[in-house]
Amino acid sequence: MPDTTSSPICRRCGRPVRVGRDNYTVFEGMHYVCFHYEFEHDLSNPDGDPDEDCGLPGCPSAVAAGANDRMVSAVRALVADWSAGPPAHWDNHSLPDYLEALAGWLADAEGFYANRGVPIPWSSWEVMQTALRAATIYE
Ligand SMILES: [Zn+2]
Ligand SMILES: [Zn+2]
Repeated sequence: MPDTTSSPICRRCGRPVRVGRDNYTVFEGMHYVCFHYEFEHDLSNPDGDPDEDCGLPGCPSAVAAGANDRMVSAVRALVADWSAGPPAHWDNHSLPDYLEALAGWLADAEGFYANRGVPIPWSSWEVMQTALRAATIYE
């Protein structure tokens, strides 16, 4: 049986908040998903479809909508950075350095999101996009 006694209750859906308990106050007493659909998802498009990616980072609907395409674009953008040689805004200019930084960033991904007060995105496509970009300068 789920332990509901120690879990706060979501103001939107009335169910216990377990996974996002640490961020309960950040998300105004709601699940992350409930907070997103209550306050963020319809901001740019009031008639939008809840199943449609609203474009905000971490939108749960993004998993279903074009996450793969965005990942491909993100990787192509990294390649384009190298069109004129090692990019000045990258700190890691060799493949081993870059991959080492990528591994380091992924190992500390939880800390990265915790520092920003947001949960780790549901979609690992999203996490990988951030990771690939972050590894260009991560030490
Ligand atoms: Zn909820
Ligand atoms: Zn959304």
